Amino acid sequence: MAILVIHGGAGGDGPWLGKTPLDPDRIDCMKEVLQHVGSRLENNEIDCLEAVTLAVEMLEDEPLFNAGKGSVIGEDSSITMDASIMRGSDKAAGSVINVKRLRHPIRASNLILKQGWPVIMNGDAADDFAIKKGLEEVSQDWLKTELRLGQWQQWKDSKSNPGATDEDDSVLDHDLESRVTTEFSDEGMGTVGAVALDYAGGLAAATSTGGMTGKPKGRVGDTAIIGAGTWADEEIAVSCTGVGEAYIRTCAAHNLATKFQTSQNLMESSNKILDEVSPLGGRGGLIAVTSSGEFAMPFQTRLMYRGSWNNGILEVGIGPELEN
Ligand code: ASP
Repeated sequence: MAILVIHGGAGGDGPWLGKTPLDPDRIDCMKEVLQHVGSRLENNEIDCLEAVTLAVEMLEDEPLFNAGKGSVIGEDSSITMDASIMRGSDKAAGSVINVKRLRHPIRASNLILKQGWPVIMNGDAADDFAIKKGLEEVSQDWLKTELRLGQWQQWKDSKSNPGATDEDDSVLDHDLESRVTTEFSDEGMGTVGAVALDYAGGLAAATSTGGMTGKPKGRVGDTAIIGAGTWADEEIAVSCTGVGEAYIRTCAAHNLATKFQTSQNLMESSNKILDEVSPLGGRGGLIAVTSSGEFAMPFQTRLMYRGSWNNGILEVGIGPELEN
């Protein structure tokens, strides 16, 4: 059995309003990722860890998602990125916090996981570590796109609350996007993630993000934190997206693993997690796959970019409906 599930972020309030002009490109990207990585997983060419790494690398390369190139821009006008990865069989994990010079932050997390110690590296030291290991170094200018610069300018012009509190999600890029009306307007661009089950029964999860538009310098979101944004054990792999502070405070990804262990009901456990996250201002979603091959992609926002490759069957969606 080979299953790959991906997300490209969740966001927005209210009913589904249909696709934006940029959404077809996002759909195409998700299909390409699922087709390319899913078929390699299915042919047993790669294991679950490499599958989630490759899938997230491809999503990081799509400038319309908020990870790698096209990450959102922080308060100090720089891009800083968080990424983490975990393998279920031995609970090996790797994470980078606030890296600024990497094309593929998730590959840096993968290298940390493989090295074994430490689990988390931050800032310049994490950039240096990865570049020394041969990862591609890129400039801040390369990472920034017109779309993100436009959104950042919009945020700055309307900035009511620099250094927003944890509960104030007004700077979450998805919500900002749904409010703006300029040429830069677009919805639901977000964090990316992947979970996979391979033929050996192995599970892995990976998540990568630029965080939130206008985030204060030094802010660390759930994406970098094992157990909050990312988790994998022998039974389940989870990747989350939404306002990170609420996912951290509920240990959302690990919390789902614990709930699932007791209930063995994936959808019910996933919804319970989103219900716990939501009162803390953490509207969002998650993806999860279990060792028995069940998977879920629930969200409580208007939309979540998501898709699955289930033994050759490909499905993607943004709003409530899925398409092939
Ligand atoms: N969870 C991410 C963060 O808080 C943002 C997102 O998923 O959109 O950094």
